Amino acid sequence: MSNYHDLANIIFPEIKLTIEDLERRYPKRNLPVDAKVIRFAPSPTGFLHTGSLFASLVGCYFAHQSKGVFYIRLEDTDTKREIVGSGESLVEQLKAFDVIPDEGYISETKQIGNYGPYKQSERSEIYNTCIKHLIEIGRAYPCFCSAEELQALRKEQEANKEIPGYYGKYAKYRDYPIEDAIQKIQAGEPYILRFKSMGNHNNKIHFHDEIKGDLELTENDQDIVICKSDGLPTYHFAHLVDDHFMRTTHVTRGEEWLPSLPIHLELFDSIGFERPKYAHIPNVMKVDENGNKRKLSKRKDAEAAVSYFLEQGYPKYGFIEYLLTIANSNYEAWRDENLDKDFKEFQLTFEKMSLDGALFDLAKVGNISKERMAYKKAKDLAEEVKVWAKEYQPEFYEKIIKDEAFFISILNIEREKEKPRKDYAKYSDIYPIISFFYDEVYDAIDKNNIEWNPNISTTDIKEVLQDYAKTMNLNLSEEEWFTSIKELAVRHNFADNIKLWKKDKEAYKGHVGDVSEVLRIALSGKKNSPNLYYVMQILGKDKVKERIEKVIETL
Ligand code: GLU
Repeated sequence: MSNYHDLANIIFPEIKLTIEDLERRYPKRNLPVDAKVIRFAPSPTGFLHTGSLFASLVGCYFAHQSKGVFYIRLEDTDTKREIVGSGESLVEQLKAFDVIPDEGYISETKQIGNYGPYKQSERSEIYNTCIKHLIEIGRAYPCFCSAEELQALRKEQEANKEIPGYYGKYAKYRDYPIEDAIQKIQAGEPYILRFKSMGNHNNKIHFHDEIKGDLELTENDQDIVICKSDGLPTYHFAHLVDDHFMRTTHVTRGEEWLPSLPIHLELFDSIGFERPKYAHIPNVMKVDENGNKRKLSKRKDAEAAVSYFLEQGYPKYGFIEYLLTIANSNYEAWRDENLDKDFKEFQLTFEKMSLDGALFDLAKVGNISKERMAYKKAKDLAEEVKVWAKEYQPEFYEKIIKDEAFFISILNIEREKEKPRKDYAKYSDIYPIISFFYDEVYDAIDKNNIEWNPNISTTDIKEVLQDYAKTMNLNLSEEEWFTSIKELAVRHNFADNIKLWKKDKEAYKGHVGDVSEVLRIALSGKKNSPNLYYVMQILGKDKVKERIEKVIETL
């Protein structure tokens, strides 16, 4: 008579390792009592979802704030969905937002740490050792059902209004005689391996999730697939093996995994591994055009991909800080009271995580970034912009490196003071606003088609410009300079303040603002620009004159 051992040996003749060997190879970590070991376990399917960045940022914080370990495991067992090279790009994108693992998968040629390999496709021996053990103890078995058979089963269950799946009386091969199974295997029949569940879906189990609190869930009774026909483990089984032997203490993962939790709990119990703690992270949601709350969608929302924020050049400190505001409801209050502190000092807690989805608000990402960027020193901001532009806006990058001091002086307009201007929410906002400073850009503006204020005659525009070109003085304070502009206005019969003009519009051609606008348009080609006084200071007298003269020629 054959027994489970024989079956296990027929299926895995090459496996000589035992669970005990693995326990010795991957010993319990030597960490402080409350230290959390947390992983981020992305699948290399081509892009990093904003929700995944959120979950990994949160995981990284919890691990580090508890003096634990944060690691990355690449879950590449779904070979059909894999996009080659995307594992490395995930790691790079995480790094761009300071989510840096202490150990794990770093690149195709680099993994660090003693609990690896950290790439699932390289862990077959470990999975097979564990499956072999489950077969030996009678908790896993081969299933020879064809796809058609399973489909027929589903139809039958639907017709009978029964719970779909492979369980109980529907689990054709769970009590199949071992001899017969061995015969089929030896005859080369294809099979997969299933877990033998002892659960009953009429039972409820109670569980405490670190975020969701106390939960009542339906016990698992499905004989789930643990090893696919390609020999690779399913997510459920790999989760059991990897999180046990990598000694994860807290499984932080998206809440879409909550329904599978009963499977995972039964797996841990059946093999005799200690259950990790679980913290199911809320999905990142958004309110769409119709006012409905839904998950950020890869197809519909540009902001669902982390690459969007990188391309647009949202500063990492703005984006991270935003993610903290949706992670913990008390973050903003803490921030208001601790303006001078680094956001890393904030203690993130599971208790303060939202329960029903973190609401994503792109406008708020922009506002926080604007706020934080405004207080950056021009020199530091210039460095950030340079690094970004090199990758995402080469034309801008070329301009920056040609004369960095010039670029810094532009960025310094109304910066480094008590109430700095808040013009930029992201690096890509900068060039469109300041590009006119660069002569090539300015020269390319079609001066014959400039949009002037239609209420001011061409003759007046010309006269104002001619006068200013002749009388301009840039060796003045901002206040003195503005007085000189008021005088210019008055010389051409414009009111030197708006109130005056409003009282008697007929008496004037316009007001001092209109005069500044003429100068602004002449120098930048645009109605809006950074503070005109500083624009002139940076361009310098000669250039200001030259630009004004060029414009006059077209009038
Ligand atoms: N590879 C899984 C995913 O990308 C990981 C889930 C988990 O964190 O356990 O969804």
